[in-house]
Amino acid sequence: MKGIYKNLAITLIAAVTFGTSLAGGSIKHKHEDLPPELAELNIKILPKIKGISRTFSKLNKDYANRLASMFIVMKQQHGYDMTMIEGHRTAERQDSLSSGVTQAKGYQSYHQYGLAADCAFMKNGKLMTDPSDPWTMKGYKLMGEVAKSVGLVWGGNWTFKDYGHTELRTPQAKYAMSMARKGNYRNSMALAAL
Ligand SMILES: [Zn+2]
Repeated sequence: MKGIYKNLAITLIAAVTFGTSLAGGSIKHKHEDLPPELAELNIKILPKIKGISRTFSKLNKDYANRLASMFIVMKQQHGYDMTMIEGHRTAERQDSLSSGVTQAKGYQSYHQYGLAADCAFMKNGKLMTDPSDPWTMKGYKLMGEVAKSVGLVWGGNWTFKDYGHTELRTPQAKYAMSMARKGNYRNSMALAAL
Protein backbone atom coordinates (compact mmCIF):
# COMPACT_ATOMS: atom_id res chain seq x y z
CA MET A 1 0.00 0.00 0.00
CA LYS A 2 2.84 2.31 0.83
CA GLY A 3 4.00 2.27 -2.79
CA ILE A 4 0.54 3.13 -4.04
CA TYR A 5 0.30 6.15 -1.76
CA LYS A 6 3.74 7.29 -2.80
CA ASN A 7 2.77 7.03 -6.46
CA LEU A 8 -0.46 8.92 -5.84
CA ALA A 9 1.46 11.66 -4.06
CA ILE A 10 3.85 11.99 -6.99
CA THR A 11 0.92 12.18 -9.42
CA LEU A 12 -0.69 14.92 -7.36
CA ILE A 13 2.59 16.82 -7.18
CA ALA A 14 2.86 16.57 -10.96
CA ALA A 15 -0.71 17.83 -11.37
CA VAL A 16 0.00 20.83 -9.17
CA THR A 17 3.37 21.56 -10.72
CA PHE A 18 2.45 21.26 -14.36
CA GLY A 19 -1.22 22.09 -14.37
CA THR A 20 -3.94 20.10 -15.98
CA SER A 21 -2.68 20.58 -19.51
CA LEU A 22 0.31 18.36 -18.83
CA ALA A 23 -0.82 16.16 -15.97
CA GLY A 24 -4.39 15.58 -17.16
CA GLY A 25 -3.46 13.68 -20.28
CA SER A 26 -4.71 16.40 -22.59
CA ILE A 27 -1.72 16.24 -24.89
CA LYS A 28 -3.17 15.30 -28.26
CA HIS A 29 -1.04 12.94 -30.27
CA LYS A 30 -1.19 12.68 -33.99
CA HIS A 31 0.17 9.31 -34.88
CA GLU A 32 3.95 9.25 -35.03
CA ASP A 33 3.93 12.80 -33.75
CA LEU A 34 5.37 14.67 -30.85
CA PRO A 35 3.15 16.31 -28.24
CA PRO A 36 2.37 19.83 -29.60
CA GLU A 37 4.33 21.41 -26.74
CA LEU A 38 7.46 19.73 -28.02
CA ALA A 39 6.72 20.31 -31.70
CA GLU A 40 6.48 24.04 -30.87
CA LEU A 41 9.95 23.90 -29.34
CA ASN A 42 11.24 22.39 -32.58
CA ILE A 43 12.18 19.12 -30.85
CA LYS A 44 13.24 16.60 -33.50
CA ILE A 45 12.18 12.99 -33.96
CA LEU A 46 14.95 10.66 -35.13
CA PRO A 47 14.45 8.77 -38.40
CA LYS A 48 12.46 5.57 -38.12
CA ILE A 49 14.21 2.26 -37.56
CA LYS A 50 12.20 -0.91 -38.01
CA GLY A 51 11.04 -2.38 -34.70
CA ILE A 52 12.09 0.64 -32.60
CA SER A 53 9.41 2.97 -31.27
CA ARG A 54 10.30 6.64 -30.90
CA THR A 55 6.86 8.08 -30.43
CA PHE A 56 5.28 9.64 -27.38
CA SER A 57 1.88 8.27 -28.37
CA LYS A 58 2.94 4.70 -27.60
CA LEU A 59 3.93 5.61 -24.05
CA ASN A 60 1.76 5.55 -20.95
CA LYS A 61 0.07 9.00 -20.86
CA ASP A 62 1.25 9.93 -17.38
CA TYR A 63 4.82 8.99 -18.23
CA ALA A 64 4.63 10.77 -21.60
CA ASN A 65 3.51 13.98 -19.88
CA ARG A 66 6.36 13.84 -17.38
CA LEU A 67 8.86 13.07 -20.13
CA ALA A 68 7.56 15.99 -22.18
CA SER A 69 8.01 18.24 -19.13
CA MET A 70 11.58 17.01 -18.85
CA PHE A 71 12.25 17.84 -22.52
CA ILE A 72 10.79 21.33 -22.03
CA VAL A 73 12.86 22.11 -18.91
CA MET A 74 16.03 20.73 -20.52
CA LYS A 75 15.53 23.00 -23.52
CA GLN A 76 14.28 26.15 -21.83
CA GLN A 77 16.41 26.15 -18.67
CA HIS A 78 19.52 24.30 -19.78
CA GLY A 79 19.65 24.75 -23.56
CA TYR A 80 19.71 21.05 -24.36
CA ASP A 81 17.65 19.73 -27.29
CA MET A 82 16.48 16.24 -26.44
CA THR A 83 15.26 13.40 -28.60
CA MET A 84 13.91 9.92 -27.95
CA ILE A 85 16.05 6.98 -29.05
CA GLU A 86 13.64 4.29 -27.92
CA GLY A 87 10.39 4.33 -25.97
CA HIS A 88 7.95 1.44 -25.91
CA ARG A 89 9.73 -1.86 -26.57
CA THR A 90 8.06 -5.17 -27.31
CA ALA A 91 8.80 -8.21 -25.15
CA GLU A 92 10.20 -9.94 -28.26
CA ARG A 93 12.70 -7.15 -28.84
CA GLN A 94 13.59 -7.06 -25.14
CA ASP A 95 14.36 -10.79 -25.30
CA SER A 96 16.52 -10.25 -28.38
CA LEU A 97 18.78 -7.68 -26.70
CA SER A 98 22.10 -9.02 -25.51
CA SER A 99 23.04 -9.14 -21.83
CA GLY A 100 25.66 -6.46 -22.55
CA VAL A 101 22.84 -4.01 -23.33
CA THR A 102 20.30 -4.92 -20.66
CA GLN A 103 19.81 -7.42 -17.87
CA ALA A 104 16.03 -7.52 -18.25
CA LYS A 105 14.09 -10.08 -20.26
CA GLY A 106 10.62 -9.63 -21.81
CA TYR A 107 8.09 -7.93 -19.49
CA GLN A 108 10.84 -7.31 -16.95
CA SER A 109 11.57 -3.79 -18.16
CA TYR A 110 9.42 -0.66 -17.83
CA HIS A 111 9.90 -0.23 -21.60
CA GLN A 112 7.37 -3.02 -22.20
CA TYR A 113 4.71 -1.10 -20.30
CA GLY A 114 5.35 2.22 -22.06
CA LEU A 115 6.78 3.53 -18.80
CA ALA A 116 10.39 4.02 -19.88
CA ALA A 117 12.35 5.72 -22.64
CA ASP A 118 15.97 6.14 -23.63
CA CYS A 119 16.76 9.68 -24.66
CA ALA A 120 19.78 11.71 -25.69
CA PHE A 121 20.69 15.12 -27.07
CA MET A 122 20.93 16.85 -30.43
CA LYS A 123 23.77 19.28 -31.18
CA ASN A 124 24.18 20.87 -34.60
CA GLY A 125 21.94 18.20 -36.10
CA LYS A 126 24.00 15.39 -34.58
CA LEU A 127 22.81 12.81 -32.05
CA MET A 128 24.95 13.00 -28.90
CA THR A 129 24.96 9.86 -26.73
CA ASP A 130 28.59 9.37 -25.62
CA PRO A 131 29.02 9.84 -21.84
CA SER A 132 32.77 10.43 -22.32
CA ASP A 133 31.94 13.70 -24.10
CA PRO A 134 31.82 16.42 -21.38
CA TRP A 135 28.91 18.36 -22.93
CA THR A 136 26.87 15.15 -23.23
CA MET A 137 27.71 14.01 -19.70
CA LYS A 138 26.71 17.42 -18.32
CA GLY A 139 23.41 17.00 -20.14
CA TYR A 140 22.82 13.54 -18.69
CA LYS A 141 23.47 14.80 -15.16
CA LEU A 142 21.09 17.73 -15.62
CA MET A 143 18.56 15.35 -17.14
CA GLY A 144 18.85 13.13 -14.05
CA GLU A 145 18.00 16.09 -11.81
CA VAL A 146 15.08 17.20 -13.96
CA ALA A 147 13.79 13.62 -14.21
CA LYS A 148 13.76 13.33 -10.43
CA SER A 149 11.91 16.64 -10.11
CA VAL A 150 9.07 15.31 -12.28
CA GLY A 151 8.84 12.01 -10.40
CA LEU A 152 10.87 9.83 -12.75
CA VAL A 153 13.66 7.39 -11.92
CA TRP A 154 16.91 7.98 -13.82
CA GLY A 155 19.16 5.12 -14.93
CA GLY A 156 22.38 7.12 -14.54
CA ASN A 157 22.72 6.26 -10.84
CA TRP A 158 22.52 2.53 -11.34
CA THR A 159 25.41 0.08 -11.08
CA PHE A 160 24.57 -0.85 -14.67
CA LYS A 161 24.76 2.78 -15.93
CA ASP A 162 21.96 3.75 -18.30
CA TYR A 163 22.39 7.51 -18.64
CA GLY A 164 19.66 8.19 -21.18
CA HIS A 165 17.06 6.03 -19.44
CA THR A 166 14.15 7.28 -17.32
CA GLU A 167 11.16 5.35 -16.04
CA LEU A 168 7.91 5.82 -14.13
CA ARG A 169 7.45 3.10 -11.53
CA THR A 170 3.74 2.44 -11.19
CA PRO A 171 2.38 -0.20 -8.77
CA GLN A 172 0.72 -2.02 -11.69
CA ALA A 173 3.97 -2.32 -13.62
CA LYS A 174 5.88 -3.36 -10.53
CA TYR A 175 3.36 -6.14 -9.98
CA ALA A 176 3.41 -7.19 -13.65
CA MET A 177 7.19 -7.38 -13.60
CA SER A 178 7.20 -9.48 -10.43
CA MET A 179 4.82 -11.86 -12.24
CA ALA A 180 7.13 -11.94 -15.27
CA ARG A 181 10.12 -12.79 -13.11
CA LYS A 182 8.15 -15.77 -11.82
CA GLY A 183 7.44 -16.81 -15.40
CA ASN A 184 3.79 -15.67 -15.46
CA TYR A 185 3.99 -13.83 -18.77
CA ARG A 186 0.29 -14.10 -19.57
CA ASN A 187 -0.59 -12.10 -16.47
CA SER A 188 2.07 -9.57 -17.33
CA MET A 189 0.71 -9.16 -20.86
CA ALA A 190 -2.75 -8.40 -19.45
CA LEU A 191 -1.28 -5.87 -17.06
CA ALA A 192 0.79 -4.34 -19.84
CA ALA A 193 -2.45 -3.28 -21.50
CA LEU A 194 -3.38 -1.12 -18.50
ZN1 LIG B 1 15.97 2.10 -21.27
